Amino acid sequence: MKLYLVPTPIGNLEDITLRAINILKEADAILAEDTRTSGVLLKHLGISKPLHSYHIFNEHQTVQRIVNQIKSGKTIALVSDAGTPAISDPGFLLVRECLRNEIPVECLPGPTAFVPALVNSGLPADRFTFEGFLPHKKGRQTRLQELAQEERTMIFYESPHRLLKTLEQFAQYFGSDRLASVSRELTKVYEETVRGTLPEIIAYFAEKTIKGELVIVVQGKEPEKGKRKRDRSTADVEEDEDE
Ligand code: SAM
Repeated sequence: MKLYLVPTPIGNLEDITLRAINILKEADAILAEDTRTSGVLLKHLGISKPLHSYHIFNEHQTVQRIVNQIKSGKTIALVSDAGTPAISDPGFLLVRECLRNEIPVECLPGPTAFVPALVNSGLPADRFTFEGFLPHKKGRQTRLQELAQEERTMIFYESPHRLLKTLEQFAQYFGSDRLASVSRELTKVYEETVRGTLPEIIAYFAEKTIKGELVIVVQGKEPEKGKRKRDRSTADVEEDEDE
């Protein structure tokens, strides 16, 4: 009786752990955001299992049914279309309900888009905030105003058709000297990471037809004078611990 959350590749099919494959093989059933997408992966891995749909539109209704299934002794694995379930994907409601019912929950470590994007950015990775997708309309302006004061590195998921608008708003709210990066198509054939100030990145993408999946990483606000500089190295962190 257990719920596993199993990360799956964000592009390159080799990015799945041996343990993830074993858990998928051993589970009584697999819940998938899109059964066709996950069906392709499972076929590639040679796994044939009952595959049920679990997506954002039926999440609320199906949670209780799944909890009851697990309580009856089943082991269920949840996967999303790509990356780690519950990270800008369905999963949180099921995890919370399982925990409320004293069902053991285990999320395997594995692929997720924001970690390689953060590390590739070259911006401080010691403290960061993952913002996922910004609200499209209601609350967007307030969120941008709040984030203008954020000193930690910020990570955003974005779709290609909104990229330029979002970068322009970042420049408007955060200032045009902020450094940033856009990682596109991570782990895939046309992977690229573009780094620079916000206007430099806007100029780069304004020239192109923007395609694929994207993660934006933006430098946090410089701390006010007198506060500790934030470009901390590992050595700085160790030094702090010795203080
Ligand atoms: N659960 C996923 C994870 O762990 O990263 C995120 C799913 S969310 C619905 C999809 C978004 O993740 C995309 O719009 C994009 O912002 C980001 N993403 C996923 N795969 C990516 C990739 N290969 N390269 C860049 N961004 C990616």
